[in-house]
Amino acid sequence: MQKNPPVRKIVIVGGGTAGWMAAALFSKMLPRHMDIRLVESDEIGTIGVGEATIPAIKYFNEALELDEDEFLKRTQGTFKLGIEFVDWAKRGESYIHGFGKVGTDWGAMKTYQYWLKMRESGTVSATFDDYSINTVAPREARFMRSRADMPNSPLADIAYAFHFDATLYARYLREFAEARGVRRTEGRIVETVLRGTDGYIEAIVLAGGERIEGELFIDCSGIRALLIEQALHAGYDDWSHWLPCDRALAIPCESVEPLLPMTRSTAHTAGWQWRIPLQHRIGNGHVYASRFISDDEAAATLLANLDGKPLADPRPVKFLPGRRRSGWVKNCVAVGLSSGFLEPLESTSIHLIQTALVRLTKLFPHFGIDQAEIDQYNRVSQFEYERIRDFIILHYRATERDDSPLWNYCRTMSVPDTLTHKMALFRANGRVFRENDELFAEESWLQVMLGQHITPRGYDPMVDLRTPTEITSYLENIRTVIRRCVSVMPTHAEFIAGHCAAGKT
Ligand code: FAD
Repeated sequence: MQKNPPVRKIVIVGGGTAGWMAAALFSKMLPRHMDIRLVESDEIGTIGVGEATIPAIKYFNEALELDEDEFLKRTQGTFKLGIEFVDWAKRGESYIHGFGKVGTDWGAMKTYQYWLKMRESGTVSATFDDYSINTVAPREARFMRSRADMPNSPLADIAYAFHFDATLYARYLREFAEARGVRRTEGRIVETVLRGTDGYIEAIVLAGGERIEGELFIDCSGIRALLIEQALHAGYDDWSHWLPCDRALAIPCESVEPLLPMTRSTAHTAGWQWRIPLQHRIGNGHVYASRFISDDEAAATLLANLDGKPLADPRPVKFLPGRRRSGWVKNCVAVGLSSGFLEPLESTSIHLIQTALVRLTKLFPHFGIDQAEIDQYNRVSQFEYERIRDFIILHYRATERDDSPLWNYCRTMSVPDTLTHKMALFRANGRVFRENDELFAEESWLQVMLGQHITPRGYDPMVDLRTPTEITSYLENIRTVIRRCVSVMPTHAEFIAGHCAAGKT
């Protein structure tokens, strides 16, 4: 095999969220001699949705040394403490998957184990949403950042993410990257030239004839997967058996009060609807399974469930849930939607862009491309994707809904063994373990499993070392402290007005 040269020239194909996140991070983290070019086509455009995130996005912005208030002003951003799931377990019910801590460990035991023991007796709060600041505060539309000067209070450690306009974010990152030397080329790529000897990508060719060569190509071309699939045929694992939704309609509407610091996901008969409050509007969308509902009915459902006046017509997107079998093939790494599609139920897509970029930066082929590094990248990427997939499937599978063909299908479908095991383990004695570097922590699995009515048959017997009276007072104390903390927090709208208001557009 031909020896690959050290990588000095990177070509990023695509200027959506993935492309500009790649350009920004590389321009900041890689050596200055790196020649970074980004090619995007205004004619083709970007997917233009992707507005809710998880807390790890803060690390990405920190790595770029972005000022958080400035970032929020530039992207019409708001804060997010978690996601409310409405009508998922059964109609008329909701629960919140909040970020961060739930309760306060007592001895070796987590709060939920004590709660599991006591919940039947009726002496503790019937809902598990009462034990975290991230689940109590959003219901009251309150938000503030952590108070480092109050180390013993729940206010010292408030986990949050953001909602933002992804198009504005890409624009902001473009300025950042161009200021650090990234060169942008506008144009439609019409050909990918492969090297005869080993099939590595040699160059891309634009409609006008310009040929752009590189040593490493980052495929951020979105669902088209121009390089990784169309040129290199990486293959795709189709997960539509477990994730039957394959379309979405997105629409912005006018803001309404109060400004909630959470995403809302409402289950409908053939899919679900997101609601993402930004400073200047609310982003909404209906994700649905086309085999269970027509596009017209899906649009009617979406329009009938908006909180404010629509600001545009619904925009359709089609997708196939799954992942690219290899995200890194030869000298091409797929980042963003070219690497796979998981529906935005837990806001994980932008996160997957971030982790792909960080992983690539750690394994960067400074001295030439090496198959061992490619294999490592792909192995970690597969694990990451599959565990997130399982977590999303959980929401569909663990439901009591039996009011439509979609829910009847999901409630009874087989699921991956890894998920079957997690659910069985929790059903037994309420135990949850985070494996390796899987994204979602125990608290996340726990909140969704309880919210979706997976009821453990027992609890960890270590809990019996405490008396029922001690446990009741311990749980009540957590609830009281959380309620008190939330009562002193400003509203989300007040917090934004005082720190990061974007102004009118
Ligand atoms: P795109 O935005 O599609 O960009 C592709 C780029 O490639 C464009 O610049 C295009 O011009 C360029 N390109 C393509 N072909 C060519 C060509 N031939 N020549 C030149 N250029 C070309 N993620 C979240 O984290 N949170 C969310 O809440 C969320 N919601 C979503 C809702 C929906 C309905 C969908 C579909 C996705 C959502 N996502 C969400 C995912 C998120 O939108 C994407 O992960 C993110 O926008 C990255 O997209 P991308 O950059 O990979 O692709």
